[in-house]
Amino acid sequence: MIYLDHAATTPVDPQVLAAMQPYFSELYGNALSVHRYGQKADYAVEQARQTLAGLLNCKPSEIIFTSGGTESDNLALRGAAWAARQQGRGHHLITSPVEHSAVGRTVAQLVESMGFTATCLPVDAAGRVNPADFDRACVPGTTVASVMLASNEIGTLQPVAELAAIARQRGVLLHTDAVQAPGQLDLDVQRLGVDLLSLSAHKFYGPKGIGLLYVREGTPLLPVQTGGSHEAGRRAGTHSTPLIVGMARALALATAAQAQRISHYTARRDQLIAGLLARVPGLQLTGHPVDRLPGHASFTLPDVEANQLLMHLDLRGLAASSASACKTGSPEPSEVLLALGYAVAAARGGLRLTVGKDTTAADIDRAIDIVAEAVAALRRLGARSRLPV
Ligand code: PLP
Repeated sequence: MIYLDHAATTPVDPQVLAAMQPYFSELYGNALSVHRYGQKADYAVEQARQTLAGLLNCKPSEIIFTSGGTESDNLALRGAAWAARQQGRGHHLITSPVEHSAVGRTVAQLVESMGFTATCLPVDAAGRVNPADFDRACVPGTTVASVMLASNEIGTLQPVAELAAIARQRGVLLHTDAVQAPGQLDLDVQRLGVDLLSLSAHKFYGPKGIGLLYVREGTPLLPVQTGGSHEAGRRAGTHSTPLIVGMARALALATAAQAQRISHYTARRDQLIAGLLARVPGLQLTGHPVDRLPGHASFTLPDVEANQLLMHLDLRGLAASSASACKTGSPEPSEVLLALGYAVAAARGGLRLTVGKDTTAADIDRAIDIVAEAVAALRRLGARSRLPV
């Protein structure tokens, strides 16, 4: 079986697993307990926070541990939007049509049920927002904007540093969902200039169920999950020490190997794109041809139904995705591809292949064969079903 769905999730690195192991058993204390069990857990949590802060170039106090990317996105948007409204600064939000649903549906709920207003920025055919459009969308009363660093579905990178500079001038907080970025893109929050940034460990060879939200010092944020005084009152709930330790180790490994991973990913991705475009008639690359995640290849096949293709690929030994993992299996056309201007048929024919650190050139050759065979087989079946009876 060849796994080309690393944008959906990655396996836990053995070094990460080894780092986490003791915190499931002998070091099981609650990090808020006063006794030595608690002290050891607290030490591990704070060491992990320091490691992560060093890797993101921020202060440890600017990191909030969450249960993953979805919660980080929810906390960023609701927390910052609620706090801004409470302070009487306004209730207008800005986002883009290519965001993950953790952002898109949170903004939709804020608008539909909580009295906020929002502007959804236009995107070009590659899925990019234009900084000039962003500037125009910042009006009096705009408080929070959210534009992702890199798309999980089409791989396209957004000009986040440029948007952050405009946001700062306009007094708007900028959140970026950077969930797809670790090991592939620069995550220095000072260079990016963002106020809020979401990460999720399972996308970079860490465990599932843990993420973080970077919150620039001084950014007003109301907690979304209330309870104990964890995370300086910003996110209640007992710390998962093993998962926090695992996330810090995983990000340290991803950052240390980043240059090597980028060249490895880029080589495999370009081999995949060139091979598939040469072998599969009618296949189109989606997203930006150059400014895209090094490990991300995405396509559309207007005459093929994505879910059928994915089943055929799985039976032949290739694990792939149509749009995002959250949407795979849905018969609805991809909203992201529709926003890029694709017709409904093309938006139903998305194919996403994302390479990982252990993907070999031989895996890619085999994957190209499998996709070419599966598409040809589906087209034969389609032609047969269209024969007059
Ligand atoms: N944001 C993006 C861009 C993602 O790709 C994902 C994962 O699918 C998420 C958010 C959600 O992250 P999690 O699975 O940790 O909730």
